[in-house]
Amino acid sequence: MSSVTNHLPTTELQALDAAHHMHPFTTGDELASKGARIITRAKGVYLTDSEGNEILDAMAGLWCVNLGYGRPEMGQVAMRQMNELPYYNTFFQTSHVPAIALAAELAKLAPGNLNHVFFAGSGSEANDTNLRMVRTYWAEKGQPEKSHIISRKNAYHGSSVGSGSLGGMTYIHEQGGMPIPGIHHIGQPDWWSEGGDQTPEAFGLARAQELEAKILELGEEKVAAFIGEPVQGAGGVVIPPATYWPEIQRICKKYNVLLIADEVICGFGRTGNWFGSETMGIQPDIMTIAKGLSSGYAPIGGSIVSDEIAEVINACEFNHGYTYSGHPVCAAVAMENLRIMQEEDMLSHIRNVAMPALHAALTDLGEHPLVGGVNVSGLMASLPLTPHKESRAKFASDGGTVGYMCREHCFANNLVMRHVGDRMIISPPLVITPEEIDIFAQRAKLALDATYKDLQDKDMLKAAS
Ligand SMILES: *Cc1c(COP(=O)(O)O)cnc(C)c1O
Repeated sequence: MSSVTNHLPTTELQALDAAHHMHPFTTGDELASKGARIITRAKGVYLTDSEGNEILDAMAGLWCVNLGYGRPEMGQVAMRQMNELPYYNTFFQTSHVPAIALAAELAKLAPGNLNHVFFAGSGSEANDTNLRMVRTYWAEKGQPEKSHIISRKNAYHGSSVGSGSLGGMTYIHEQGGMPIPGIHHIGQPDWWSEGGDQTPEAFGLARAQELEAKILELGEEKVAAFIGEPVQGAGGVVIPPATYWPEIQRICKKYNVLLIADEVICGFGRTGNWFGSETMGIQPDIMTIAKGLSSGYAPIGGSIVSDEIAEVINACEFNHGYTYSGHPVCAAVAMENLRIMQEEDMLSHIRNVAMPALHAALTDLGEHPLVGGVNVSGLMASLPLTPHKESRAKFASDGGTVGYMCREHCFANNLVMRHVGDRMIISPPLVITPEEIDIFAQRAKLALDATYKDLQDKDMLKAAS
């Protein structure tokens, strides 16, 4: 057997990592000088690093390890499937049992008429599928010019050429010739950062109406679809005001624009329902899924598609697909994840146990002088840091400077809390217990206190003018 777990001392691993491993969203030189933190094993909500530290993972990896780490059933199912049928494809009129079972299960769980699944290996791939699928849908219906897609600034839909173009992150667009043509970005419903003196309700409505204005500008006959995350994740856990999504749905219906809900983070319990679309009260035409679909134990994503779209796409040959679309091992692992979630009634744990405990802990943390508010939906949350609570002011320092300081203090206190700009992000495994939430809150408080002290010492508690 290969001995990948029989590892070298940390410094040697760090040197090899820096010499040969190129990391996503990382400045390689900076990593090389500091050395990566190397995670060697994990159980429940805790990671263990190569120095033996036990770290509470309040991010569930990258928003995905919903079931927590180290569930032996998942590995057993993967092994059984590998021995029975490690690979076969789903191209050219072939299929296999895990893909069939998972598609049928997803059709059962997804709301309304979303009864058909196109599998991908990731969320980025699934959004690339969506881009081509909605354009193909309108072309097949005799409207090939109905091909433009409207998204939002500060949205995250992946980092491939298509999905990164759908996303609204300028730092992604700056590299590699993006966005591709035909994609437009309107304002995001981020009341905390951009709402000014407006009420959240009025602001939410105004931001939704930017969609109507953009459709009218481009022409209804040119617009294929709107895409949005029910709650923006990587953009900083942006909870839209209650007025936002119903207005978006109304506008999409009025102008025959397909609604794509990117459920890659929100799906599978994160917001307290199976899907974020249910939490927001919308009925999309397509949902993007990945991350929590397999709790991150295997790479798999997909698009869950309405009866009407499937009917049109199935009537043509859709020249699209991935070698690993519906990969049998990944599909079997995802099925096991969904089985465990249902048999252990994860939704009731989330709603009745974890949410009340997390919301109470966040309310306490919200009292901290550095915390400007609490954005929370289900078990995803952000704490925006601010030098001045009342005005929701930004820091005078470059955006992200303070967030990064706080993240480093979290790491030093054995807590993974990510920062997006100057917001701290929380998205723990859905299985987290009230006792573990207490430990999270204690460590988060230590990190906030240490950050506050740093800011005082360095005279950085200053608002941008
Ligand atoms: C992570 C993410 C993606 C991209 O998924 P990958 O599996 O990393 O390609 C797409 N959409 C949203 C909302 C995400 O959070």
